[in-house]
Amino acid sequence: MKEIRVDCPGGHGKMVLRRAKKRMTFRGVKIIVPIEQYICTVCGVEAGTINQAARIQETIADAYRKAVNLLTGEEIIEKRKRLNLTQEALAKRMNVGIASIKRWEGGTIQSKSMDHTLRIALGGQNAGGSCTGNRAFSIPRIKLVIKEFEVVLGKHLLKKNDKMLFAAKYLWYADMVAHRERGESMTGSTYASLPYGPQLNNYKDLIEDIIKADESKADPLSREEKRIITRIAMEFPEERKVYEAAHKEKIWKRQVNGAIIPYTDSAELIGV
Ligand SMILES: [Zn+2]
Repeated sequence: MKEIRVDCPGGHGKMVLRRAKKRMTFRGVKIIVPIEQYICTVCGVEAGTINQAARIQETIADAYRKAVNLLTGEEIIEKRKRLNLTQEALAKRMNVGIASIKRWEGGTIQSKSMDHTLRIALGGQNAGGSCTGNRAFSIPRIKLVIKEFEVVLGKHLLKKNDKMLFAAKYLWYADMVAHRERGESMTGSTYASLPYGPQLNNYKDLIEDIIKADESKADPLSREEKRIITRIAMEFPEERKVYEAAHKEKIWKRQVNGAIIPYTDSAELIGV
């Protein structure tokens, strides 16, 4: 930090810049935060600068992230740059908005599950593929695949205030089977292992956009893709069945809560 002249408000002249480590408790975790402040050597009064005040939140967040083993803002930036990814490209890789990337690179603390997704997305060139099944994420395509299921099943899967409990299971099978058989998912979606089965990662942020999406903007389904969807629908004509089958899949079971289910596990699917 560039040193500037700060005078003691008590009239003792120039204060000196001191770098110190401050112990504090943040979110119940003891952390040590490096701080820089000006101190008067005569009366001991301390003062920060506006610049320091703006950075302190970030510094605390990073000390906390380090303590609980989450990627710090600096680490996210560094890993992203090493892969030559823009914030936008990383957001796309993770199925999140660019605003989330900006926040995490600043002072906002990511959840454990988002940290896991970050680590996968930042893990290397192929890591993104294992997250998205070698396909660019497309919300209109999610809508298109769900619509196709609705036609074959003869029922609605997407409802208002949907938690995607069933739609996500059909989608997951469609993406996983397509990856297993064609080396490419159908929608580029990332799935998390949740207590109630595989779920579209970040579905709460996506659901409104999926419902509103215009499926005519998506790449049309190929014949093989339609065939896969029909096969899955025939296997699970009732929503309860797809739900139960997903819960028997070991590729879901072996992931801890919130972890991403990699597409590289698709060969071990047993339901379809
Ligand atoms: Zn003073």
